[in-house]
Amino acid sequence: MIDLDKMAAQVRMCAGCSKMCRHVCPTFFAWRSDSPTPHSRALLIHQEIIGAREIDKRGVEVLYQCLECSHCLTWCVPEIDIATIVESKRQDLVKTNRQPEGISRLRSVVEETHNPFGEPHSKRNHWIKTRKVKGNRVLYFTGCTAAYREKNSAKDTVSILEALGYSVEITPDEWCCGSPLFRTGEFEAGLKQASHNVEILNNIDADEILVTCPGCYRVLTTDCPENGFELNKPVRHISEFLNQSLSKLQSGNIDVAVTFHDPCHLGRHSNIYDAPRAVIEHVAGAPVVEMARNRENAMCCGNGAGLRTLFPEHAKKIGAERINQARKIGARYVVTSCPFCKEMLSAQSGTEVLVFDLPEFVMRIAMNPNVKTD
Ligand code: SF4
Ligand code: SF4
Repeated sequence: MIDLDKMAAQVRMCAGCSKMCRHVCPTFFAWRSDSPTPHSRALLIHQEIIGAREIDKRGVEVLYQCLECSHCLTWCVPEIDIATIVESKRQDLVKTNRQPEGISRLRSVVEETHNPFGEPHSKRNHWIKTRKVKGNRVLYFTGCTAAYREKNSAKDTVSILEALGYSVEITPDEWCCGSPLFRTGEFEAGLKQASHNVEILNNIDADEILVTCPGCYRVLTTDCPENGFELNKPVRHISEFLNQSLSKLQSGNIDVAVTFHDPCHLGRHSNIYDAPRAVIEHVAGAPVVEMARNRENAMCCGNGAGLRTLFPEHAKKIGAERINQARKIGARYVVTSCPFCKEMLSAQSGTEVLVFDLPEFVMRIAMNPNVKTD
């Protein structure tokens, strides 16, 4: 949450800016219009704060066209944090009941089923088989996308952990981490999910919590402590975990170009850039071929902060552009470290480019050295 005075000062400054970050904003790219840009979002909020003009229905739409990817922040000399400002304003829109209908629907679905897809909770992660292994106990928080939509990623995560000698715990009582709610301004509903999860996770005897979804990672490591919910064990992202286990992973010899797509919540939001690259390079036995936009300058996949829920066609357009960027450098494999990015990018990639979540890539290459790489 941003302090109101700070927000007022920041949007005033941004409203008068010559829009030096606009060219990196994925929603400016998708709409080809000056409305869904950092500057226009700030201007809308500035006008409402000074009493010049209330945010109308179109203004609400523009505020919900933001991916909260924080790309604009990397270009902004005065460091105006538009993603945080937009999220704060969304909270205000929810409090005053001005949010889009699709966002209220999303909240109801998560409240009822504890996942954003409306799938039955009873089918969440019971299907994941674990073996009894005598090793350190890792509590794998599966997250909604891997549990319901990217099941190979969840299965491969468990297989890798067990092959590395860990005993994997999974709880059927986990709920959505709350990320889709926090990011869309449904703060109170997000807190309910988060407090439930913290209570459940704190009552399980394990050495650490492992997550593969950067959205879950951000909630568990940032949103929870910021709101007074303390976990009693460390949380690690799979990329950090595997990076610390490289000596136990086979190194391959891939002769096709492999690139890495940085998820916004892992890169710009959590500052994890090197770990997934180190894992890929070790497993592939070759350097990552970087896209022109990489690390802090990586383009969002288009899936975040409710954009796909409200504007699916524009979200897909952004995902397709990210795949084009991979094609331009001749990548055959695009590896990401987020089941949510994987879902979006693989839906846009066709057959020429193959997209993997990091555990899938490691499983396919390091755990299966006989696999063909073409
Ligand atoms: S976010 Fe920064 S660079 Fe972008 S328009 Fe606002 S002040 Fe200018
Ligand atoms: S956070 Fe991302 S989508 Fe939102 S204004 Fe900034 S660059 Fe655009």
